[in-house]
Amino acid sequence: MNAPSTLDELIQALRCLPGVGPKSAQRMAYHLLQRDQAGAARLGRAIERSLALIRHCERCNTFTEETVCELCRSPRRDGSLLCVVETPADLLMMEQTQCYRGQYFVLMGRLSPLDGVGPREIHLDRLLRRATDGTVAEVVLATNFTVEGEATSHYIGELLRSRGLKVSRIARGVPVGGELEHVDSGTLGQAVLERREV
Ligand SMILES: [Zn+2]
Repeated sequence: MNAPSTLDELIQALRCLPGVGPKSAQRMAYHLLQRDQAGAARLGRAIERSLALIRHCERCNTFTEETVCELCRSPRRDGSLLCVVETPADLLMMEQTQCYRGQYFVLMGRLSPLDGVGPREIHLDRLLRRATDGTVAEVVLATNFTVEGEATSHYIGELLRSRGLKVSRIARGVPVGGELEHVDSGTLGQAVLERREV
């Protein structure tokens, strides 16, 4: 059998992207070669550069080009609070709320035994070391409210509580601007259960 052609190789390579099947990979390859060679060159350079320069922050595990990221180095953050999120995108969402001034730990995933993602894959040993380094007073669990996110939150909560740490979970609720009739009953039920005194 012949070695795959350069074009086949490109199409195969594009299939590493999530949700990209053979047809879309082919379309992308044709587009890059026929319509946007400058874009293709830029993409190639950006990927190469990213792979060479981007690593995980030693403290919070998010993506950074430094040993310790800017947020972890900031003296303006409250070091007694540590918020656990699944992804760097979740960290950004938390930052956009402007309601949280503590530090973070990014799991880069969630527990998912069926996919072979266990405590080791989401770096729980590092989280444990970070949470017990003497500066953290409370860990805020902000994993997703999916089955896997909830299981991850539960597992981490038990783990950290057994070490004497204070652990909290962000509350679910009615979306801001949301009308009750448009909220699903599960969300509304949870909002009632997690009500606070006014
Ligand atoms: Zn960091």
